[in-house]
Amino acid sequence: MPVALITGASRGLGKQTALALSAHGYSVAVNYVSSHKEAANLVKTLLKTMGNSSIAFKADVGDITQVRAMAEEIQKTFGKLDVIINNAGITKDNLLLKQTEDEWDSIIRTNLKGCFNIISALSPLMIQSGGGNIINISSYSGMKGKAGQSAYSASKAAILGLTVSAAQELSRYNIRVNAILPGYMMTEMGLKAQKAAEKAKDESILKKLSEPKDAADFIVYLATTKNISGQVFSLDSRIG
Ligand code: NAP
Repeated sequence: MPVALITGASRGLGKQTALALSAHGYSVAVNYVSSHKEAANLVKTLLKTMGNSSIAFKADVGDITQVRAMAEEIQKTFGKLDVIINNAGITKDNLLLKQTEDEWDSIIRTNLKGCFNIISALSPLMIQSGGGNIINISSYSGMKGKAGQSAYSASKAAILGLTVSAAQELSRYNIRVNAILPGYMMTEMGLKAQKAAEKAKDESILKKLSEPKDAADFIVYLATTKNISGQVFSLDSRIG
């Protein structure tokens, strides 16, 4: 049975991806940092409806010690790892001239260093498993930038550079690394910025926002591919 680790899987896109991967026969390592109850409930749902061996792992992706401890637990529990979804992310929107150093650091730490921590601590297990797919969740803001989201945009742009570099370095181990831009979704993160949501809808040629389920289904597909690496996929209908 294939095994997938999804960071930030307690809600939003991560949760939807856990449901989708589990429905396709994956055992899922459900990572979270504070939403213990939500992660435990998700695991219960996965076990009840899919019957796969899914487990919740608490770890702050920005903390390499916690990530290494999670990597050991995943190795002990599943003994292999086929797919990593680097999904955990935060934003603390503020104008650049008002953004505090703490806000800046926490966004870069979670969104960017979190991806590095996960790739560096979990790749050895993936190599041991014969390779696999790493999918990093970037953002439209990382490509286009956005007023009020300098730190978030910078972190998501950096993920694109990390994706292409990691894809080149890890290809020798049969590990593919790709990034997706999931589009504006009304998750807890998306709901926080109603004006930005309206703008995204207005800029869409379909006059629609994106659905986490569409992104999750695309992730499931990408996770099964063997010959795609170093690519960025936009799952959006904005063309600006
Ligand atoms: P969300 O609903 O706010 O969920 C964020 C998830 O990240 C939660 O499960 C949270 O866990 C987890 N998380 C936060 N900090 C963490 C940390 N330090 N360690 C481990 N987990 C952590 O957000 P979402 O909308 O689903 O976003 C998922 C991803 O898509 C993010 O990378 C986001 O940047 C990206 N994205 C979202 C949109 C959008 O419109 N929503 C658009 C483009 C890209 P806890 O619940 O335990 O805190």
